[in-house]
Amino acid sequence: MPNFKVVIIGIGGVGKSALTLQFVHRKFVDAYEPTIEDIYRRQIELDDEVYVLDLLDTAGQEEFSVIHDTHLRSGDGFIIVFSLVDRESYESVPNLISQIYKVKETDKFPIVIVGNKSDLEKDRCVDFVEAEKFAKQKNSRYFETSAKLRTNVEDPFHFLAREMNRISLNPQS
Ligand code: GDP
Ligand code: MG
Repeated sequence: MPNFKVVIIGIGGVGKSALTLQFVHRKFVDAYEPTIEDIYRRQIELDDEVYVLDLLDTAGQEEFSVIHDTHLRSGDGFIIVFSLVDRESYESVPNLISQIYKVKETDKFPIVIVGNKSDLEKDRCVDFVEAEKFAKQKNSRYFETSAKLRTNVEDPFHFLAREMNRISLNPQS
């Protein structure tokens, strides 16, 4: 069965760990140690295919928007997380995408962009349409999630799994 490595990146505090732990363990962890970097594994069944996803929840360096090259190299796909209530975290996304493109030497790579903390709607400072348009320009797909309420948590992972599978079957596409 297909086994893909998913690397979760984004600046500190946006909910990378919360999102990963919701996806893997179905629980919300309120205060997760910011410096812990861990690999999780989850199997999912999609379109009669079982996928094994190895998820790397990154920490540390990317607080400064620089990700370890080893993390970038190892990813078959990326989830870039920002917080819908932190404009600065959204502004940091283009730089993260550039780092991926550079290491992968292509601007067509499985990447999803996730605006997290959708439960804090009244404090939203990133517009849905704006973020979606940006994602499209970058050959990416945009999702909004709440790791806290487990809203839409599965969708970005499913989309990415299908995309990584598509690329692995047909690298030219
Ligand atoms: P990371 O540094 O990107 O791994 O962020 P964390 O997962 O550690 O989350 C940072 C803080 O945001 C923690 O206090 C979480 O409880 C909180 N948080 C994460 N996701 C959500 C969410 O969807 N909604 C709300 N309201 N808070 C969240
Ligand atoms: Mg974390």
